[in-house]
Amino acid sequence: MSRWPSRWSSLALSRRWGLWGLLVLLVITMLGTLVWLASRYEISQVQEQLDRDGVDAVNDIRTALQRNVQSLQALQSLPAQDPSPAAWTQEATKLLRQHREWVRLEWRDANLQVLQAADSTFRAPVFARYGRHMSQPEFQAACSVASRQRGPGYSRSNYISVQEGQGLEVMELCLPQLVNGRVEGYLVTTYSLNDMLFQMLPSALVQRQQVSFTEADGTRLAMQGSLREGSRIFSTQQLLDLPGNTLVVRVDRWHAAPAVTPNLLPALVTALAIALGSVLVMLGRDMRRRQRVESDLADALAFRKAMEDSLVTGLRARDLKGRITYVNPAFCEMVGFEPHELLGHGIPAPYWPPEMFTEYGQRQALRLAGNAPPREGVESVFIRKSGERFQVLIFEAPLINAMGKQTGWMSAVLDISEQRRVEELSRASLDRLQATARLATVGEMASLLSHELNQPLAAIASYATGSLNLFDASRSDADRDELQRSLHEAMTRIARQAERAGQVIKSVHDFVRRRDHAHEAVTPRELLDSVLPLVHLQARKLAVQVRIDCPDALPPVLCDRTMVEQVLLNLARNAMQAMAEIPVAQHARWLSFRVLPAASNAHQQWLMFEVADVGPGISDEVSAQLFNPFFTTKSEGMGLGLSLCRTVVEQHGGYLGHRPNSPQGTVFDFTLSVASSPPAARTLSTPDPATRPVSSRDKPAPTLA
Ligand code: ADP
Repeated sequence: MSRWPSRWSSLALSRRWGLWGLLVLLVITMLGTLVWLASRYEISQVQEQLDRDGVDAVNDIRTALQRNVQSLQALQSLPAQDPSPAAWTQEATKLLRQHREWVRLEWRDANLQVLQAADSTFRAPVFARYGRHMSQPEFQAACSVASRQRGPGYSRSNYISVQEGQGLEVMELCLPQLVNGRVEGYLVTTYSLNDMLFQMLPSALVQRQQVSFTEADGTRLAMQGSLREGSRIFSTQQLLDLPGNTLVVRVDRWHAAPAVTPNLLPALVTALAIALGSVLVMLGRDMRRRQRVESDLADALAFRKAMEDSLVTGLRARDLKGRITYVNPAFCEMVGFEPHELLGHGIPAPYWPPEMFTEYGQRQALRLAGNAPPREGVESVFIRKSGERFQVLIFEAPLINAMGKQTGWMSAVLDISEQRRVEELSRASLDRLQATARLATVGEMASLLSHELNQPLAAIASYATGSLNLFDASRSDADRDELQRSLHEAMTRIARQAERAGQVIKSVHDFVRRRDHAHEAVTPRELLDSVLPLVHLQARKLAVQVRIDCPDALPPVLCDRTMVEQVLLNLARNAMQAMAEIPVAQHARWLSFRVLPAASNAHQQWLMFEVADVGPGISDEVSAQLFNPFFTTKSEGMGLGLSLCRTVVEQHGGYLGHRPNSPQGTVFDFTLSVASSPPAARTLSTPDPATRPVSSRDKPAPTLA
């Protein structure tokens, strides 16, 4: 990777973080503003409610005062009906019981002299201790207002000491008694301000908040209700304008400050803020996870690309309609087309040879119909852009996407043209080598042949000479019959010897004759019978006795007959040559051929061929190089026999090995597959290696190609 992408990615990363920071800042600002506005709104709501309560309180007090004035006017009119002081006192006491806010009622004459007075029974008489004169200026002021206005007049509030350290704030109400428009007297009512609040205001109002009368400078005169603990106090002040006096009614209310969740709106805003905050946190986490996944993905993609580019196998993907969707560099190099010339190309593909369009089209249709056996290699011929044809091996596999659905086919394409060429060369050279080996064998046998033919030819010659001598000796008629009989005998023997010589020559001819290299089913007995005449030729010369152990019931094997005969003959010759090293007087020379069933599996049956001798055996040193081409211990040996044998056996899918014979000598063995099975060379099934003897077979095989 160049430095550019890493710089670009760090720039993109810092830009992304910057955007995130900005977003977080915006959200926090917006949320702060919302919370502030919501609390402002809440404050205004509480304040408005409180103002309304204040106005209500003032109205309630005013209404109650007016009603009280009416009650007092009823008392004022009493002397007109019953002027006795006792009647007034009785009525006044009755009214005092109904109005706890009243402290005292006084009936005064026009000069403000007390005519009658009654104190509230709910408390000790207020003026008993210090006298009435302390509040004289107040009720005089109230009565002057009352006489001026011809209606109720109120005094300023004043403090009356009742006992030591105790007292109460009172207000005087003076109601003029008018007779024909003249003031004849006054009804003076002393109000306890505290009780006014208690009696005249609804109890609910006092429970919720604190209501008080204050002076203009804020001094509290009387108070009802209590302030509960709270984080913030709201206040409102309303004026109670009375004739002669103006009182300030103040209402205080606690309120859990319009802090975070005072009511629904801020609660909603808060909830939203929390939700938004959580979303931001989650988004942050998600972003980090995404970044990690993106970087992992980039790594995986880079790895995949590097892998695909380094592959020598061509990869090609096609969709379900047969259009090419992907090709790797190896495939492009193979067919000589650029990726853009292939991608999106449908049927027929540009690398199909024109003469194969129909066949490949049918194969394609079969695959698209879903009938193609998966993962089975198919050999095909492709054509390069240059026009050159080449052989390929194609493995197709269905392309399954993340949803488990097939989206097309992925093919791995191997260019096997070079492999095929090498195989062809290898086969040709093996053929040539085989032919050479056979001719070498024949050459070796020439001396054996001359020795073998010598006997019948000498016999023929002596029979012929004997016959000629008979002709010369027999002249009489009596001899003629004898001559005829003797000649017939001699001719018969000549013919037999000639036939014997002919058979010797035929057996060599049969072996050398070139046959087709085709796999055919041959019984083990037939294979042995083919090589035995030649084996016997040499065996007779070297005084070797041949033993054969080959049950007729054994099934035929599938093999190239000529090649396997050559293997048997090579092994037999090696065995006899090895035994020739030990003098015959020492012990008898035995060459044994044995055929028996070998370890097999469910799919494949095998036969084992053994060629055993009682020669000197094979040392470890020789064993290590036994199958190396051109390794020999013989002065006139070529060292090709065993390596050739092993190549032949392995081409048949079998193995060739050797082990020491008991008590001495060597056993060479090889396996061939039974004919009922398909040719072993084309299957992966081989005899279980665990069951075969340990041998130098385990060394790498010589390569003849
Ligand atoms: P060549 O027969 O031409 O020497 P081979 O490849 O057939 O070539 O044999 C290689 C060597 O293996 C022989 O030279 C011999 O030393 C050894 N050899 C083969 N068969 C036997 C056997 N049956 N007993 C002992 N030695 C053997």
